[in-house]
Amino acid sequence: MRIKITLLLLITIISFNSCTKDAPFVPFFSISDDRTLGAQVAAEIASKPSEYPIVDSATHPAAYQYLYAIRNQILNSGKIVYKDDFSWRLRIVKDDTTLNAFCTPGGYIYVYTGIIKYLDSKDQLAGVLGHEMAHADRRHTSRSMQTQYGVDFLLNIVLGKDLSSVSQIASGMLQLKNSREHEQEADEYSVKYLCPTSYNAAGAAGFFTKLEASGIQCGGLQQFFSTHPCPDNRIANINAKKVEEGCTGTGTFDAEYANFKTLIP
Ligand SMILES: [Zn+2]
Repeated sequence: MRIKITLLLLITIISFNSCTKDAPFVPFFSISDDRTLGAQVAAEIASKPSEYPIVDSATHPAAYQYLYAIRNQILNSGKIVYKDDFSWRLRIVKDDTTLNAFCTPGGYIYVYTGIIKYLDSKDQLAGVLGHEMAHADRRHTSRSMQTQYGVDFLLNIVLGKDLSSVSQIASGMLQLKNSREHEQEADEYSVKYLCPTSYNAAGAAGFFTKLEASGIQCGGLQQFFSTHPCPDNRIANINAKKVEEGCTGTGTFDAEYANFKTLIP
């Protein structure tokens, strides 16, 4: 039955897709499926404090407010297709050794203290957040999960038939590999999201420049690149996108960012 309905939906969506807004399509997975899976993974993450030590928003309200403000600017860019459909809840994970961030299908965002402390400016963090939010909004993550786990495995979770497998998905978030094509699109969307703001819209490039300066080459084994493989000329592509989009913001907010980092445990 599910297959029949899915096929019908597929045909309907394909015929509608050409005339709707810039909405990404994922075979066999609806927006509602993205939302359900995201909520299931987020609940599982919350139940694994040793694996995912979440910084308490009640004891660190100022740190969270700072991140919420950046997230909200991205959400209000007018470029997020599922702004009102996805969760966009943000959590900080206390792990100074992890230079990474991720976003589940349905928009549950996780940022590690490691990457927050590594970065030097607000536009860099905004670029990284935009990149991760693009993976959810462009529905890259649900596609990557289909590739890694298979459609049946995921639908059994979403339909409540095999809830025990959620644990595997939650534990695999930092190993889930995006394609190079998705990486490039997420980089480009991070620029689009920041373009209407006062930020330097190429903030994500600042992160990669910093990694390269410390001897970590794009495409190497460094943690971020194991889950976000590098298209060629990543820094140049981001800078070119900023020019192409005509983004005029230059703000990096270094001093403000340095102060924010003192709020991070
Ligand atoms: Zn990525």
